[in-house]
Amino acid sequence: MTQIEITFLGTTAGVPTKDRGHPAVHIKYRSEQEYSCLFDCGEGTQRQILFTDVNFMRIDDIFITHWHADHFAGILGLMETMNLEGRTKPLNIYGPEAARFVDILQELGYSSKKYQVVAHDAWFEGTSPQVLLDNEEFQILSIPVKHSIPAVAYALAEKERVNVDKLKAKELGLPEKGPVYGEIKEKGSAVFKGKKIRLEDMSIVERGKRVVYTGDTMPCKNVITISRDADMLIHDSTFFEDAADDSNYRHSNFDEVINISKKAGVKQLVLTHISRRYQSSHDLKEKLKDYEGVKLAKDFMKIVVS
Ligand SMILES: [Zn+2]
Repeated sequence: MTQIEITFLGTTAGVPTKDRGHPAVHIKYRSEQEYSCLFDCGEGTQRQILFTDVNFMRIDDIFITHWHADHFAGILGLMETMNLEGRTKPLNIYGPEAARFVDILQELGYSSKKYQVVAHDAWFEGTSPQVLLDNEEFQILSIPVKHSIPAVAYALAEKERVNVDKLKAKELGLPEKGPVYGEIKEKGSAVFKGKKIRLEDMSIVERGKRVVYTGDTMPCKNVITISRDADMLIHDSTFFEDAADDSNYRHSNFDEVINISKKAGVKQLVLTHISRRYQSSHDLKEKLKDYEGVKLAKDFMKIVVS
């Protein structure tokens, strides 16, 4: 069975508080192999990691939602530490205008990195998701969102799996094991003892899990597109009341996020990027208690989707 482990490393909005660090979410995809990445890397992320069971040397890729410092200022320090600890494998950094900003980061200060840093641009206009990473088990997608500068949301989307339904296979007269299964999976059907057996007659399709992280955004249709039926949506919820006076900042408030998550039909909603004006999580939790499947993110919180 596969799992997606989500560890919240920073959950504040622009300014850190004693309880909340700058935005970063660690995603670990577990199957036979393990994949590890960060969605955003705010200031202090590498130190936040030390308080969790995340191993920063195993981070494969970093995905930046947008180039406001609170979402990327942790990259520089993390890259240096990776170097000091002997990293040799390349580090991929994705984001809107990634090539431009990764170049600037590489120019800052004296560094003698023994590994390569590779930038990958995510498109930040339009309404279609972009596949940034694609392997046998999952994809990582981006989609443009609405913020004051170019910004995207990310999704880790597991591919659906086709599993043999042992009972149905037995009814069709198939053996318990054998090369016929490989042939059916590859070609969609096979002839066994003179009988044509189709994949759909002897299999169960297991839908893939999906976790979405919006970064900073106003309510946005693209978020609904990318988080349709998602297992988890991690959404900007900077404000908890109607924040008309703050609309210049291009964030979302509680009611708007609830509305988006209902439209998308997500199973679990996690509110993050919480403004420092809310010093007491207790009051916010009170507000949430009538909403099933809605959580308030806090630093070091870990949730497993399986
Ligand atoms: Zn922000």
